[in-house]
Amino acid sequence: MKKTLSDIDAAAIRGRTVVVRADLNVPLEAGRITDDRRIRASLPTLRALIDAGARIVLLSHLGRPKGQRNPDLSLAPVSRRLGQLLGCPVSLVPHVHGAKAVGPVESLPAGVIALLENTRFLPGETKNDPELAAAWAALGDLFVNDAFATAHRAHASTVGLANAMVARRRKAVAGLLMARELRFLEEVLRMPERPFVLIIGGAKISGKIGVISELLPRVDRLLIGGAMASTFFRALGLDTGASLVQEDSIRVARGLLEDGGERLVLPVDCIVAQEVVEGAEARAVSRTDVSGEDKILDIGPESRARFTDMIERSRSIVWNGPMGVFEIDAFAKGTVSIAHAVANACDAGALGVLGGGDSAAAAEHAGVVDRLTHVSTGGGASLELLAGASLPGVDSLTDC
Ligand code: ADP
Ligand code: MG
Repeated sequence: MKKTLSDIDAAAIRGRTVVVRADLNVPLEAGRITDDRRIRASLPTLRALIDAGARIVLLSHLGRPKGQRNPDLSLAPVSRRLGQLLGCPVSLVPHVHGAKAVGPVESLPAGVIALLENTRFLPGETKNDPELAAAWAALGDLFVNDAFATAHRAHASTVGLANAMVARRRKAVAGLLMARELRFLEEVLRMPERPFVLIIGGAKISGKIGVISELLPRVDRLLIGGAMASTFFRALGLDTGASLVQEDSIRVARGLLEDGGERLVLPVDCIVAQEVVEGAEARAVSRTDVSGEDKILDIGPESRARFTDMIERSRSIVWNGPMGVFEIDAFAKGTVSIAHAVANACDAGALGVLGGGDSAAAAEHAGVVDRLTHVSTGGGASLELLAGASLPGVDSLTDC
């Protein structure tokens, strides 16, 4: 168990400077934030620190500037949005580290957040440069890592900073979001109430094979949808027409079918169309009737009924990946019904955890986010954790 911000006595941080690594890596289009979910998810930790009277130095990366200053990837829009949401001043420090960053941080009045510019403007960030990490650690007396979505990477502002803070005999603790993510993901893995159902979908099977093989022996049902199902159809010897298939994963899929037996549930029918566009002519067909130019773009009505029934009867649910191309209405029904089924199960007391950026967007689209037990903010990190890997960003924190 790792120490979290809740284990720290508020009196011990009053007037102190706390270095916080959040994940404010939001999507931008022409300098505008198109989805501020990650900023909102970071608010509880920041509010708790403000209430405790701490001074806050905040770090985050944004996009992939590859170690170079890039004005298009400045945290300026994030700084403004964070200030609005928090209702307190956020001052963007244009320097990422060094003396020019230290000055503004030291003159910071209590209650003002100093947000340092994009950590990935420096090449040392992704190389986990210990000197860079030590410079950041020297800015404060406590490190709070709330960036769950980057916990599967060892970078200077995460692992390096935690190590540097501990080397200064100070603490590195999990923020409230990080703690919440770990609590729900670990809870569902440790002693899942049964039936335990894993739902996997999305475009690529390769990134999710780890989770499937790790959890397949532990779940009661593994429901497969999305483009991934087409790879499994091929493993069964079926024709998938022009569907997206990962040829190099067919063999792995065959092995999983053998291991999973009847626990592994594939769609029996699908929605096909020849074009992946709004208004395309879509048909529901049996999985044995796909051919030619047809592309499988969603699970069919019979599969929807089977999947939702199994989901609504389960007590623990992990869901990652949409059932179809939900971005287009004609192919969204499968994903939306699954989202409602998971929400219904949660209403009836099941533990339902959703991971994956696109799946979270789909759940939002279906209007069920508030009914789910937990929607993870970290796609890659949650998949690694579910696949049984340890996360360096978590391992580097102070033990209880
Ligand atoms: P997540 O971000 O939730 O982990 P992924 O990134 O793995 O999900 O996959 C999401 C993408 O998969 C979506 O953009 C969706 O359009 C696509 N997708 C789902 N089903 C299909 C399909 N049958 N054919 C092609 N693309 C699909
Ligand atoms: Mg995705």
